[in-house]
Amino acid sequence: MRLAKWAPPGLAVVAALLLASGASPAYSQARVTVFEGARVIAGDGSAPIENGTIVVTGSRITAVGRRGEVAAPAGAARVDVTGKTVMPALIDDHVHMGYRRGTSFTPDNYTRENLIDMLDRYAWYGIAAVLETGTGRGDLPYRVRAEAHTGARYLTTGSGFGMPNAGPGGPMRDSAYGVTEEAQARKYVQELAAHKADMVKIWVDDRNGTVEKLKPNLYRAIIDEAHTHNLRVMAHTTELADAKDLLRAGLDGFAHMVRDRDVDDEFLALLKARPSVFFLETLWGERRAIFTAKPAWVEDPALREAFTAESVQQLAEQLSPDPKADPQAVQRARTMAATNLRNTAKLYAAGARIGLGTDTGGVTGGQFFGLGSHVELELLVTKVGLTPMQALVIGTRNSAQNLGLTDLGTLAAGKSADFIVLDANPLDDIANTRRINRVYLRGEEIPRAALSAKWNAKG
Ligand SMILES: [Zn+2]
Repeated sequence: MRLAKWAPPGLAVVAALLLASGASPAYSQARVTVFEGARVIAGDGSAPIENGTIVVTGSRITAVGRRGEVAAPAGAARVDVTGKTVMPALIDDHVHMGYRRGTSFTPDNYTRENLIDMLDRYAWYGIAAVLETGTGRGDLPYRVRAEAHTGARYLTTGSGFGMPNAGPGGPMRDSAYGVTEEAQARKYVQELAAHKADMVKIWVDDRNGTVEKLKPNLYRAIIDEAHTHNLRVMAHTTELADAKDLLRAGLDGFAHMVRDRDVDDEFLALLKARPSVFFLETLWGERRAIFTAKPAWVEDPALREAFTAESVQQLAEQLSPDPKADPQAVQRARTMAATNLRNTAKLYAAGARIGLGTDTGGVTGGQFFGLGSHVELELLVTKVGLTPMQALVIGTRNSAQNLGLTDLGTLAAGKSADFIVLDANPLDDIANTRRINRVYLRGEEIPRAALSAKWNAKG
């Protein structure tokens, strides 16, 4: 499996190099900060440490443990987080960057400035990394990925694959490679490999009979070529029959859950042979079919710290019953969402690897960068039936593993110092992951108040 090619900027690079070379005297000059007194949730499913200590040196965590059992160097800065809960920053394995800007949704928004702004929005909500799944435009995602910036780490699958004009939805459609020949598909995979794309995305969906589904010989060629270049392949697909054939073809992950029917024993047997295959549920993307009434959190004034009044209004409308909607379409969507929830529970129970993915920024995900990732966790608890701890592990360690991000997802010595300080305990109520006090990425506090001021100023 390939690791992300993202390099932490500045001090982190220096610290890592010094660590590697064993040059401890110079390394010890990096700024050390000790966070003391919080409940620490490591992200690996272990019991929380009550009254814990986290030592951050430069951009890295250098120690985690019980207060009094962790040595902090003299002269270290101290941050009192008594009464708070600290958890790893989240990872979102399925987003669409660039197209949305406020309530507008167009390729014209796909600019460097907007990509950076979105990464800041994810960071504001405590998201450490995101994977752009198949809707990158040209070289820009790779260039922004290589830049030092203050936001979430940016991973991208570049352009994904479908039949011509049959890949992603809405204004993102033209971003994908349209393929009809195996040789051509292989050539495009080689382009992605040359860019060091973080994964490959394919669409295998006829969108209710409106477009042509990517043909099996083509996705086999794509998967084979990708694996030759140590690239994994994830698929947008919804039907069990396609999911089975994709598994047989060597697919590495599912961008959405199977939702046309319940997964069966044959599917579980196929998965048993492929335990590293991951599933993203994108429950946030299906929120309209999952929530039967407007959830109370839509009225939370804190939403206005991240979104304009117009966006919050749009979210409230999306989550309220629509009297003009076609009742049959509503019923169809609800049936698929219910199947998604059942399949998620069934696959989790079977030991499949579940990750956090929201489709935020896409057709159904909307402009609610970061918020969607937190609500996804809540839905895993309230609708799928997982415990808060199980949901947290999915959103942190598991989602980092899915992307090969070995330095993210858990709080432990050697990991990147990417964590969220919460005012309330998410193990009591998973919605408490949204009661964010502070966010740190790469050891630096995200200037949340300044970002809020900037975004509200945009009206
Ligand atoms: Zn998507």
